[in-house]
Amino acid sequence: MKLFFRTVMTALAAAIILCCGCADTGAGRTAQSENGPGAEDGKGDSPPGVGKNSAGPWQCVDTAMGTVVQQTIYAADQETAQDVSAQAMELLRELERERISWRLETSEVYRANALAGSEEGFLLSEELSGLLESCLLLWERSEGAFDVTLGTVTRLWDIDRWAGESGTEDFRIPGKAAVEQALSTCGSDRLRLVEEDSAAEPEEGNDPAESGVSGETHLRLFLPEGMQLDLGAVGKGLAMEKLITLLEERPNVSGAVISLGGSILTYGGKPDGTPWRVGIVDPFDTSESVGILTLEGQWCVSTSGDYERYVEVDGVRYHHILDPKTGAPAASDVRGVTILMKDGLVSDGLSTACYILGPEKGMTLAEEYGAEALFVMSDGKIEMSEGMKQCFMKR
Ligand code: AMP
Ligand code: MG
Repeated sequence: MKLFFRTVMTALAAAIILCCGCADTGAGRTAQSENGPGAEDGKGDSPPGVGKNSAGPWQCVDTAMGTVVQQTIYAADQETAQDVSAQAMELLRELERERISWRLETSEVYRANALAGSEEGFLLSEELSGLLESCLLLWERSEGAFDVTLGTVTRLWDIDRWAGESGTEDFRIPGKAAVEQALSTCGSDRLRLVEEDSAAEPEEGNDPAESGVSGETHLRLFLPEGMQLDLGAVGKGLAMEKLITLLEERPNVSGAVISLGGSILTYGGKPDGTPWRVGIVDPFDTSESVGILTLEGQWCVSTSGDYERYVEVDGVRYHHILDPKTGAPAASDVRGVTILMKDGLVSDGLSTACYILGPEKGMTLAEEYGAEALFVMSDGKIEMSEGMKQCFMKR
């Protein structure tokens, strides 16, 4: 059995930031210059947590939410940029810790999952109430291709380990019966969300104050026995939304690009007025890009692909995007999908959904959300929406 695994660093290749002004300030190993993929932008010697702005924007590389976070921030002064950058990192870590993680006992998802099958259910914070509602809408519109109730199945496949440091040497392909059993716990149609005035008496182990609930109308989540939420497909999308709010609250920040693995946020502009340039990774060679997006102002660019997290067994690739119909990695002619839109949460969810749906249904779905989509197919061809064509330039 031949096994490969990719570490979290691979997520860096999901998209390549190209922004003029980065070249001489050391954005880290993954930001690549316009001189061509494979070339390092700057010295590439920024260890996590170290920032620089010798001649341009503040730039730093760090880790959060299981991925490498690269920030390029244009601000009135270095102190502001540094401060915003630190706030952004704290925001991401808090999001993981308090809301999204299914592993950390401190997080809302963990506690909601722990109460699966209970009669009392779990009172969600406003943030997760909104998030789950968006996820359910996407589930409906994608005809079930996108489903955040796949937690038991994603754990069976041990997907998180594929991106971790622990390796996959002992990985075993789950048996058919185990997959079927896990799949029987899933299905967004089987969870219940009930509106509730959270001023009502809190229940033990389910304190609204702890969940960030504050006396408004929220949703109480009832997960059936065995069902587990996995918000891995939208976590970085929610992060982008929160980062936009953070940046908007800081008028001294004129522009920023923040990359969270497969999700990239552009915001504002550069002092010289030139546009942002975001590269889309080539799934056939992740050190290369298939082309560049030229963007002005605030955009969210989310990419999902079979090269981001996978394990190979006897020459067969098992990747991290699962088909809810089979409980196995989605069999698809698509290698990667990139979604471009203003909304971070939806862009992240859509890229996952569109990978499973393929270009025909995926384009229709993206259009429903007013999003642009680009598909890199397994024969190397690229299919994209009209709006995407306006800003994409092939390499
Ligand atoms: P992304 O990289 O944004 O496409 O998200 C992939 C992650 O979402 C996986 O690692 C799983 O945690 C989760 N996931 C896998 N398949 C699905 C699916 N069909 N619907 C929703 N989430 C999924
Ligand atoms: Mg996604």
